[in-house]
Amino acid sequence: MKFNVNYYQSNVDCKYCKKTYKTYKARPVRCKIIGEDTDFMPIYEGLNPLLYEVAVCPHCGYAYHKSMTRTYGPFLLMIEELYINELKTSFDLCGERTIEDAIMSYKLAYLVARSAMEEPLLMGNFALKIAWLYRLQSDEKNELHYLQAARDFYSKAFASNREGEERIRFLHAELSLRIGDIDEARKEFSRIMGDRNMSNKYRKYARNRWEDYKYTLAPTVEAGEVNEVSI
Ligand SMILES: [Zn+2]
Repeated sequence: MKFNVNYYQSNVDCKYCKKTYKTYKARPVRCKIIGEDTDFMPIYEGLNPLLYEVAVCPHCGYAYHKSMTRTYGPFLLMIEELYINELKTSFDLCGERTIEDAIMSYKLAYLVARSAMEEPLLMGNFALKIAWLYRLQSDEKNELHYLQAARDFYSKAFASNREGEERIRFLHAELSLRIGDIDEARKEFSRIMGDRNMSNKYRKYARNRWEDYKYTLAPTVEAGEVNEVSI
């Protein structure tokens, strides 16, 4: 390719078919973070590197994300049986991508990961990123579907360090709130706020988020009704 100010081409060795291919990646200098949603979705001005995180092999359809761990030996046999053999079409996702293309790439990675029975934490992260991509498209129905899937994976997930564990607990509460499971959100935010072992960072996030919901977003209740959001 000629020099492109927005993208560079990354060489990828496919872990399944072992062939090499080139795929676009967004140049970091073109991606500027200007904010963050309450579920940690980074908000970018300019290009969004999330669209290019998953590499999809144009030869066999294997989709790869750097966080995957089950990419060798017996796992490849499971992926062959449950994913590769089921593919009915080939994909060309190696150039510039629309959000639609990015959703497809992440869904393929999700199917590969599910075939290899990757850990719930990784599955939750993939589901959350698919939800974010739908949010960028203002497709609320599909966003909620994947937020629900992410929340359910996080409820079974473990992290290898304290920061990771705290992040999972916060996300469990945050995603419960976003999908409208208010009882669960209230319980988990309350636990986080009252847990002296939690870092100040996540206790503060939880307090801010719950108060923001309670005072500005929660449906108002008539006098005499039970206010389900009071804690
Ligand atoms: Zn391949």
